[in-house]
Amino acid sequence: MCGQFGRPKLAIQRTMLKAMIAHDGVPSHTALWLIAYIWLLRLPSEALPMCVCASEPARGVYQAAVWREGDNICVLLRSRKNLQGGSGVLRRACCCEGSPLMCPVHILWDKFLANVPSGTKPWLNVSAAQVLKWIRGALLALTVCVWIGALNFPVSFLANRYQTQVPMARIR
Ligand SMILES: [Zn+2]
Repeated sequence: MCGQFGRPKLAIQRTMLKAMIAHDGVPSHTALWLIAYIWLLRLPSEALPMCVCASEPARGVYQAAVWREGDNICVLLRSRKNLQGGSGVLRRACCCEGSPLMCPVHILWDKFLANVPSGTKPWLNVSAAQVLKWIRGALLALTVCVWIGALNFPVSFLANRYQTQVPMARIR
């Protein structure tokens, strides 16, 4: 897909994201996609520096922070375009009833962030370029899966093969 000026535009739709989450076996990848999607974060400046906290941090300490508060998962951003004082606390509750794969509480928190020690930035050493690679790998693998009619194949398996430059013919 290309934008107005012919530059490739990577817009992951909800259905595609669900498929990526369902078939990618790497929790840190799916957690990053989810957190960026649920809070509409900018990847390099808001999602990648995200710090996991035990409770609400003081304003301005972290560029981006996430913590659990009762039944909510909360995000706080130090600065956000057009919001000089930062984002305020952005809360999200369980959405298992409509969208169990994308639940901020039971997937994002329980399956990944709960295992990250507080004060840690799980994606600190990941570059935006690396994330694009993960996404492209997952998308390619999904496409290949649809193509060979094997959607129960783990995407990470095929994505790993893709990243090690295995020719398409051999993936098949
Ligand atoms: Zn839930």
